[in-house]
Amino acid sequence: MAEDCLFCKIFRREIPAKEVFRDEEVVAFEDIRPVAPVHVLVIPKEHIPSVHDLTPAHGPMLARMFQVANRIADERKIDREGYRLTFNTGPQAGQSVYHVHLHLLGGRTMGWPPG
Ligand code: AMP
Ligand code: ZN
Repeated sequence: MAEDCLFCKIFRREIPAKEVFRDEEVVAFEDIRPVAPVHVLVIPKEHIPSVHDLTPAHGPMLARMFQVANRIADERKIDREGYRLTFNTGPQAGQSVYHVHLHLLGGRTMGWPPG
């Protein structure tokens, strides 16, 4: 837990978010500035600054994050059309919040390569 981390505060419900899923390990909520019709963020309880800080011990928690994202994709009915799961890592990749978060993006065609 980091005192002044935005996503730790969302996990602790100190900052409101449109939550779509919560358990003891992860929370999923609507991105405040959606860039696709479906744009949900999945975060772990643990304060991990970026993917670059992950260790093998985080494996089960990461699997849980993907499982939650997949379930939300099913609920939003974007599972057949497809969706993108993204971890922006570091400044050049556009990471702006340094608490690991998985972007679930869908509901429109995605470009490749990403901008
Ligand atoms: P990234 O740029 O990959 O670090 O993603 C951070 C994401 O967090 C961006 O898509 C922001 O729109 C989103 N975001 C920032 N503040 C909030 C907030 N208070 N509630 C929900 N999403 C947020
Ligand atoms: Zn945090």
